Amino acid sequence: MAVVCPECDNPITVDTDEAEEGEKVVCDECGMELEVVSIDPLELAPVDAIGYDDEDDAPAMEEDEE
Ligand SMILES: [Zn+2]
Repeated sequence: MAVVCPECDNPITVDTDEAEEGEKVVCDECGMELEVVSIDPLELAPVDAIGYDDEDDAPAMEEDEE
């Protein structure tokens, strides 16, 4: 199933058998991060609009491992 990116109108395919609410997808075209807010009907919302949750993907803070 595909929805269009709210940012650039690029179609983003989401496998609704695999996806779950809260899952994040990234638009190939503009790189915008979108969160699956609903599976049926399929709806994506920009993560920015929802607000960042500080779970596991903290941006910017990348530790150098040697
Ligand atoms: Zn996009």
